Order: sequence, then structure tokens, then C-alpha cells
Amino acid sequence: MFGAIEAGGTKFRCMVGDGPTAIADEVRITTTAPQETLAEVIRFFTAQAIKHPIDAIGIGAFGPIDLDRNSATYGHITTTPKTGWQHQDLVGLVGDALKVPIGFDTDVAAAALGEYTWGAGQGIDNLVYLTVGTGIGGAALSAGRSLRGLVHAEMGHMLIPRVAGDSFAGSCPFHGDCFEGMASGPAIRKRWGQDPETLTTDHPAWQLQASYLALGLANIILMLSPHRIVLGGGVMRAELFTALRCRLLDLLAGYVNSPEITDSLEDYVVPPSLGNQAGVLGALVLARRAYEQESQP
Ligand code: ZN
Repeated sequence: MFGAIEAGGTKFRCMVGDGPTAIADEVRITTTAPQETLAEVIRFFTAQAIKHPIDAIGIGAFGPIDLDRNSATYGHITTTPKTGWQHQDLVGLVGDALKVPIGFDTDVAAAALGEYTWGAGQGIDNLVYLTVGTGIGGAALSAGRSLRGLVHAEMGHMLIPRVAGDSFAGSCPFHGDCFEGMASGPAIRKRWGQDPETLTTDHPAWQLQASYLALGLANIILMLSPHRIVLGGGVMRAELFTALRCRLLDLLAGYVNSPEITDSLEDYVVPPSLGNQAGVLGALVLARRAYEQESQP
């Protein structure tokens, strides 16, 4: 059995199991102050470990986070705007309390891994997972490993051109009109004065949204050449997929000469198939990997 933690800004989702068809138990804990939330997380796993021994725990966390194993602050959340959580150690605290190996990655990389292992990214060598909700986050997997460098990818903050005639300042506190600043849920709310959920399907917001999403995806395709893009998050809806695929074809203008893009874009930019389970299931995969790594001679 493995433990999984999807550490989110509004809730921590914890699971014990070994995959989507082998879930022993699950709990959602509201994210409050770090000491309080993490104490509750540890209580859950301590109680679980009496019933089923847990071999390792995977954490997919909101960020930014420190993923550099040589860094003194490896396993910490770093400069998050979320009050109280700046520089919070996750890996050290959970690992010390529960005495098991800990796998660690971003929440979006965990969701990518979940989709790669059991969902819409199965068998896809180079996969990008992008989520559009309260922010925009993205992760790229190559042969099932997330691409990391200095820190981790921040696809949501890529700088994209404005759609002609658009004068909205954007909503990103760091960059204003970056991808997330123009196309996240809060950006839509700020621009139209309405929650995305309350906008009717014929509202002009969706055509503009499709244009910005297509700009972001075009850059991802040109930069990383993934074999598939899984596009999820609370802002996504079926009609948005149709519109953005159309615009994406226009933007790429036949230059990326691959039948996946020119002939079957509906199989190339796809919704997730694990729904809101992707992140926590991906954290189970992180746990399994941490266990296997620790078990190697
Ligand atoms: Zn930004």
C-alpha cells in the first residue's frame, strides 16, 4: 500500500491505496495554517498505517516548490503567495513523522503522472498536462519522468501576444498579462465581472478564452513537441475544446507537419480521463517510485 497527498491551496486530499481500482481510504482536509493541516494529514496516515502498512508516500504540492535534492530546502514550498505557507517544509515534516520514503513533485506533475499511468496519457512518451483553473499550471513528462531544471516548468506564466483589440491588463500579480493573467479562472472573473461558471455558452468570453488557450498551446507544441496534450481544470468545457482546436490549427498554419496535428487534433488535445482524481492518483505513483528507489541496493 502507498500513501498519496495532493497538497492544494484549498484542500489536502490524502489517499491510501495502489491505484484507481485499489483505494483503501481517502480523506479531504481543508487547508488552513500549515501546523494544523499537516498535523491532521499525519494523524490520517498514522491511523491508516495500523490497518495497512504504508511503504511510501507521494506528495504532489502547490508551489512554487524546491525539487533540487542537493538543496538545503529540498521538499519545501518556497515563495507561494499563500499566507503562512511560505518556506514550509513538506517532505521533511511528513517523512520524519511517518518514517517512510517520500516522493515529491508539483501538483500538476502528479496529475500528469496519474493521466500517464491510468488515464488519457497512457502509452504517450512525451506528454504535456495543462490545467486551467484558479491558475494555469503545466507539466511535461518524457518517458514518464517530469522535466525539471533549475526549478520546475511554469507554463502558466509564459508570455503570450495579446489578441488584437484586447486591452485587459491581466490578473497575474507578477506579470500582468502572462498566459495565466489572461486566461485563468480569476482572469475571466476580473475581465467580465462574472464567475466563469455563470457565463452562458454563447458569451463572448469563451471565444476569447479559446484564442488565448490556443496561443499558449501553440507555444507548448512548438517548444516541446509533445505527442499529446491533456487539458484539464475547472475552466475547461467541451465547446472550448472545439473552438481552441480550430484556432490552434490556424496559428500553427500547417508548419508542424504531423498527422496528429493536421488530421486528428481531437485525439491530440484531449480532456483528462481521471477527472479530479488525477493528482492524488499521480501522487500514488510518486510514492511507488520513491519506494522502488529506496529499495534499490
Ligand atoms: Zn504570470
